[in-house]
Amino acid sequence: THDAKMTYRIGLLPGDGIGKDVITEARKVVETAASSFGFSVEWREFPYGAEHYLNTGEILPDEALEEMQQCCALLQGAIGDPRVPPGVLERGILLKTRFYFDQYVNLRPALTYPNVPTPLKRGEGIDIVVVRENTEDLYVGLGFLSNEEIEATVDMKRPSYTLKGALSLKVDPSMKFAAQLALATEMGVRRITRYACNLARRRKASEIVLATKSNAVKELYGLWEEIAKEETSKEGISLKLVNVDALCYQLARDPSGYGVILCPNLFGDIVSDLLAGLTGGLGLSPSANIGDGLSMFEPVHGSAPDIAGTGRANPLAAILSASLMLEHLTQVEASEAVKNAVLEYLRAFPRQRHPMELGGEATTSEVGDSVASIIQRM
Ligand code: ATP
Ligand code: MG
Repeated sequence: THDAKMTYRIGLLPGDGIGKDVITEARKVVETAASSFGFSVEWREFPYGAEHYLNTGEILPDEALEEMQQCCALLQGAIGDPRVPPGVLERGILLKTRFYFDQYVNLRPALTYPNVPTPLKRGEGIDIVVVRENTEDLYVGLGFLSNEEIEATVDMKRPSYTLKGALSLKVDPSMKFAAQLALATEMGVRRITRYACNLARRRKASEIVLATKSNAVKELYGLWEEIAKEETSKEGISLKLVNVDALCYQLARDPSGYGVILCPNLFGDIVSDLLAGLTGGLGLSPSANIGDGLSMFEPVHGSAPDIAGTGRANPLAAILSASLMLEHLTQVEASEAVKNAVLEYLRAFPRQRHPMELGGEATTSEVGDSVASIIQRM
């Protein structure tokens, strides 16, 4: 008998600036891992991003979303360019794919790495994953300014319901005001809490920490706490409730002892950046946008046009994002191998062969080659 090799079709969105540089390396490393672990990858490349928009006027056509649906996962570089007004590509590409594929989990692992300095005094190791709810909270786009007709509908593209919001405020007409609605739904909180519980089990942790601010924001985060309590007790995981401000204080002083941190959208954004700052920084921070349909994996950093094409971009965040993708595709050994190769590279290779961002002299592609060579030798 002969094994039919598993083939994964992976959508690639290199995007702009250093997105292209780092995705080349992530792809190189995935191909190396695939040949070591006996599967193969078929790449489907998509051109969307700032450059494509500036050249063609096209942002992200609906047909592209349907084609993406034929892939097992998306690996993205970075999208953005100072010549494109803020919001156009965020709404037109990032949020559009997130809502279309209902990617309700934003996963941001924060890990300390050998020979990468951190601001932590005692040099403790951090191994934390922030599970950020990705579709609700202040990000649903229900914002109102004075003098606007205050009525809005949000189509959440969810199977179960459409939300309609209507609001009227009586205010002094001479006074400017703005209002932004934050949303939490039972379904939204339940599914993200369930995801966090499964993740805790995979990491052999018995507890998750939920960061809210329910003393000040009662209805919104009160519902979070109520549903998260129900769901964690069903799942047999214990839940520790903390205020997000106290959590930030603790993380900055002593992050040891934290594992899975569950956050509503806005707090998750902030807490995960704090942790990126406390660990390896932008060039080492991967992320995943996960849904029940198509999931998307990308480094946290942007397109960094200042260093695009110069070989100065650190591809490790993109390579670590590819590791998250392999885990999601249930190629768990390959995923571990990629992550361990990054750790081994930083531990054992001389500083001079590290990325320039980390004080070394290696170019983007030399870093990718080094990591790939470790996987080959494993
Ligand atoms: P965006 O709006 O897309 O997030 P930004 O300008 O806020 O972009 P980034 O592009 O993420 O921020 O990065 C800010 C700066 O950090 C870059 O200009 C670059 O100098 C540096 N930087 C970011 N990522 C990397 C990387 N992978 N390797 C080396 N330097 C990086
Ligand atoms: Mg940025």
